[in-house]
Amino acid sequence: MLAIQNHRLTGPDVSFRATPNVGGALRPRYVVLHYTAGRTLESSVESLCTKKPQGNASAHIVLGRDGRIVQLAPFNAVTWHAGVSQWNGIDGLNHHAIGIEMDNAGLLHREGERCVAWFGKVYPDNEVVVAEHRHGGGVRPWHHFTEVQIERALQLCEVLVAHYGLQDVLGHEDIARGRKVDPGPAFPLAAVRARALGRGADVAVRLVVTATSLNIRSGPAAEFPKVAPALKRGAELVLLEPQDRWSRVAVVGATDLEGWVCNDFVTRQAATRSGPTVLSRSQRAVPVAQARATPAPRKPAAPAKKRTPRTVR
Ligand SMILES: [Zn+2]
Repeated sequence: MLAIQNHRLTGPDVSFRATPNVGGALRPRYVVLHYTAGRTLESSVESLCTKKPQGNASAHIVLGRDGRIVQLAPFNAVTWHAGVSQWNGIDGLNHHAIGIEMDNAGLLHREGERCVAWFGKVYPDNEVVVAEHRHGGGVRPWHHFTEVQIERALQLCEVLVAHYGLQDVLGHEDIARGRKVDPGPAFPLAAVRARALGRGADVAVRLVVTATSLNIRSGPAAEFPKVAPALKRGAELVLLEPQDRWSRVAVVGATDLEGWVCNDFVTRQAATRSGPTVLSRSQRAVPVAQARATPAPRKPAAPAKKRTPRTVR
């Protein structure tokens, strides 16, 4: 169980090592997730605790592949993880966000059949996720995140959101678009975000696609471009932002995907209530990684109308 006392994290497998790379006072409004693009937890901690002539980098937390957490700075001090960045009209997210670096080799490249990190290490197929980034760039190999790491990232986000009343859980790729791609498609950012942002008595609403095939778009109207191939009947979605006719959703599926769907072709699955977070006890038992990897096929609650067009909206 993670907790925060005096801007320091407490809990199992949590340690603290102070980095000299800190700025002024921070009143956090966001948490930003990164991958280290590094070799190991230890090498990344070392690097983020070192002053360098070419520019200093740091973060509040480094999260290992085995779930170990090293905190490098208290959460009320600025660290240097975001660089040039914008979000919601704010520039320079270092002054507004807690940074979490996750030990991960990042974007790999192919040498023949092999997937290789920039530092030369070869990763076996079962540690590689082949996917296209939601910002494009084609289908490429990415180092996978372990289930315990993803679960721990979720716990971290939950405790930070609850303690500091954070407004959002973001990826570096969200705030430095075009410049950064981390944490990338191997990390279920949309699902972690949707779960971590449950506030107070909020309910987690899951939707199920009832049309044979439903388009998912970049905005709340049929005029917006599709962000991915059409969703199939029975696909599960997490409701992020409901509007009159359309809703912004995160797809519980193989990749990290968000977009807008028309409300006419989805139905509410179930609402769960569980105190400070959006997870019920039974949901919590399922790691995000697993939920991502194996979307359970479910029958839609509402029967389809007489003749459903092949792909709607
Ligand atoms: Zn980053």
